[in-house]
Amino acid sequence: MTAAPFKLLAILAHPDDESLGIGGTFAKYASEGVETHLVCATRGERGWFGAPEDNPGPFALGQIREQELHAAAATLGIRSVRFLDECDGDLDRANPARVIARIVAHIREIRPDVVITFAPDGAYGHPDHVAISQLATTAIVAANDECYLTGGQLSHQVQALYYVVFRNDENAIYAEAFGDLVMQVDGVKRRSISWPEWAITTQIDTSDHWRTVWQAITCHRTQLPSIDALSRLPETSHRTLWGNGTFYRALSFVNGGQTLVCLRCLGGAMGRVPEDATAYGNRAALYNLSIDATWSDPIQSDEMIAWTLHVWSEIQQETGTGIYLNFAGLGEDNGKLAQLAYRSNHDRLVQVKRKYDPTNLFRTNINIKP
Ligand SMILES: [Zn+2]
Repeated sequence: MTAAPFKLLAILAHPDDESLGIGGTFAKYASEGVETHLVCATRGERGWFGAPEDNPGPFALGQIREQELHAAAATLGIRSVRFLDECDGDLDRANPARVIARIVAHIREIRPDVVITFAPDGAYGHPDHVAISQLATTAIVAANDECYLTGGQLSHQVQALYYVVFRNDENAIYAEAFGDLVMQVDGVKRRSISWPEWAITTQIDTSDHWRTVWQAITCHRTQLPSIDALSRLPETSHRTLWGNGTFYRALSFVNGGQTLVCLRCLGGAMGRVPEDATAYGNRAALYNLSIDATWSDPIQSDEMIAWTLHVWSEIQQETGTGIYLNFAGLGEDNGKLAQLAYRSNHDRLVQVKRKYDPTNLFRTNINIKP
């Protein structure tokens, strides 16, 4: 039996939001076998930056940008792209009930585990981004309500909703590329919002995929002025912008992730077991320190593993030589760890494993490999 693939859905406003906003996250998860989907509210048909006399008009431009989005999505490994057919620039004036019903129908059809949308600040106050944040958040609640009907579809509970947010260093690079990014709405100037470290719940390392993201961005050829400005940035800036995903976990039905660091005082009968009478030989230790990380949302794996390994590397220097090995599958050299843990018992355990479990049936506890 194979588990159903993990599904990620992003609900965004315009073609190019998927690449500029969360391209790295899309590319990383697609490369890991996650099924990724995109719902895009508009076709960006008002986003013309060329000479006015060359503007093909909103309908034709929408068609061109739809094709650009499909090309970017293919680059990022996005499985499906769906449009809400809303008007670019007018999303905050669209009928909310209609838009929410359409988003709910897509959620119930795709049945994603995790949804990503803009934060309520819309990255820099863009009214379409602000609107899609509110509409998508409402739709996630409605999709799980059995009394909210969409043509016979079953309700669906999304496990977690994340808002894409931006850090100060990212916004500084955008400012370097575009100058002072100001959006004037109702006579008020709106600028990029930088989220403080403490408010960011989730960082995803997408550094292996930054080139793919840049390739996806360049698919949006009608957005040439912004591509031009970004292309003048040094490689380090590109790596910073596309090499990480920064999120705020807004709604969650799953474990937020926790790490327990326990210090236990040993003693009693344990200390009287001879070293060679058991696999775990560190019987004379006075204390046992354990770092147990648990989480149930795959989007947190990088963050949780990195944090746990960091804690261990900080603490390790204060500990004795003995370690107790359990589920040490964090990309570490298991063979070396096993030798460290079992010391003089190691070779004997390898013999026992080879003799009684050559097919590695008991692989969940990966202490000794056959
Ligand atoms: Zn946008």
